[in-house]
Amino acid sequence: MLEGFVPYPEEFVKRYKEKGYWIDKTLGEEFDEFTAKHKDRIALACNGEYVTYKELSERVNRLSLHFIALGLRPYDRLIMQLPNELEFAYVYFAAVKIGVIPIMALPVHREAEISFFAQFTEAKAHAVPSSFKDIDHQALSREIKKKNPHLTITLVSGDNVAKDGISIKELLNDKIEERIPVTTLNEYRPDPMEPAVFQLSGGTTGVPKIIPRTHNDYALTFKKVSEIVGLTEESVFGIAIPVNHNFALSSPGLQGALYSGAKVVLIPSPRNEVVFENIQRERITMMPTPPALLLRWMEDPELSKYDISSLKSVLAGGARLVAEAAKRIKPILGCDYHQNLGMSEGMLFWTRRDDPEDLLLNTQGAPMFDDDEIRIVDENDRDVPYGEAGELLVRGPTTIRGYYNSPEYNKKAFTPDGFYRTGDVAKMYRGRYLSVEGRIKDTINRGAEKISAEEVENHILAHPKVENCAFVAMPDRILGEKGCAFVLTKNNQPLTLEELNNFLKNERNISIFKLPERLELVTSFPMTEVGKIDKKELRRIIAEKIEAETKGEG
Ligand code: AMP
Repeated sequence: MLEGFVPYPEEFVKRYKEKGYWIDKTLGEEFDEFTAKHKDRIALACNGEYVTYKELSERVNRLSLHFIALGLRPYDRLIMQLPNELEFAYVYFAAVKIGVIPIMALPVHREAEISFFAQFTEAKAHAVPSSFKDIDHQALSREIKKKNPHLTITLVSGDNVAKDGISIKELLNDKIEERIPVTTLNEYRPDPMEPAVFQLSGGTTGVPKIIPRTHNDYALTFKKVSEIVGLTEESVFGIAIPVNHNFALSSPGLQGALYSGAKVVLIPSPRNEVVFENIQRERITMMPTPPALLLRWMEDPELSKYDISSLKSVLAGGARLVAEAAKRIKPILGCDYHQNLGMSEGMLFWTRRDDPEDLLLNTQGAPMFDDDEIRIVDENDRDVPYGEAGELLVRGPTTIRGYYNSPEYNKKAFTPDGFYRTGDVAKMYRGRYLSVEGRIKDTINRGAEKISAEEVENHILAHPKVENCAFVAMPDRILGEKGCAFVLTKNNQPLTLEELNNFLKNERNISIFKLPERLELVTSFPMTEVGKIDKKELRRIIAEKIEAETKGEG
């Protein structure tokens, strides 16, 4: 077993297998099955290029063989930074097929994040694009290799591959299967009970937490969600958010859509015009969309210039979709929607297609399986009366039992009997439906992209002028939340947002989406009774200030 992985207790393994949740197939075997079944149908579309299921299978097998030739072996880790492009699918499936565990980093992650993943997981390989926005990923990989000798392989998509990188295109052009039979891959079959994929937690700690998803539980997830949202061979599934995210990869995501024989459109950017153009051209029928994206689409005056009549449903998740916005979906986009409370740690809640409007509008759905156990508890871990708000605790056949290699943190994040403490405040509603009421975890949910407050605070505290700070969520009409830094400077020196962000970007190398979008200089902090900075009060102060400013503008 992979060291650092927390396995499910025997009694639960037995139960989940007996009940047919876990069928001991690897993600690679699932892949072989769906690619064989749908052969000549189109599996992938990206930028006007099309790939059939048969071609996808051939390319993935070829790449898997190359990975073995390069020295990669089951349970080795590969940092995945490819964006929404065909190479993403090739590398992802080629890795999981031979048990190489992709770490689902984002293309926008920079040195601070990637060097942590490299060091913490002792990754052997790093997959990067040759060009993406203003980040030079190949240079980044080179820097990280210098400090992490176990990282020896940089796989590069696209053209302009540097000498120390390995071109994915060239590997795909080299028919290695003519020298080494594809059946060799059987020797590298991973154990379906082992981690297949490392997802990343939105995190509340100084560094991201790694979520090990097994072959058994990941396959169970994407199959069940596909059924719930009604994916079929006729579906065209558009992915405009980073496909690396759990939502876009497995809920139902790339994998669920391919499992269903659908065509998956990998959309290179979430910009409105790119998305609309793709919906129109590819006749997209279904899309995963955080509420922030939905709002942007619905408010775009250019929308009416496109034919988006193919769109049948949008899957809203990652952040709370407010009822007012939900009500506008059908009149403006002409399609239905599902709400979903999802978490990369596993448990998913979905509204169902035939749900009455009340449930569709006001809840984030019900769990997927009878054996998904949910508890709503007070601060002393006592179950609250039905219908009252409390922290949501979850346990079930798709929910992890611990973060990778984090025994101390796991004691806090899980109950002794294995329930994951979500940090979400929720209420039960009509049976097992649930509505999310808030959050006790210290994160900022920026348009469904999660930012750990502690992680950013640690970087801010490293600024030579900063004495103390608190990073909190401030309301934003479109994104839901943005990050605001409250800072006390040494001797009350002046500090500007630009100065702070230049430091965070250039000296600390953190991802741009994590940067504070507002700076409030303070001379003292409100404190709680136990002597901690009172962030609830800071959130109230900044929300009030923004409201007053908005009114002032109006
Ligand atoms: P991630 O693992 O990045 O998907 O983040 C999971 C977290 O996102 C959950 O624990 C919630 O805090 C938040 N979240 C996801 N979906 C929703 C939703 N529909 N409504 C409110 N919060 C959500």
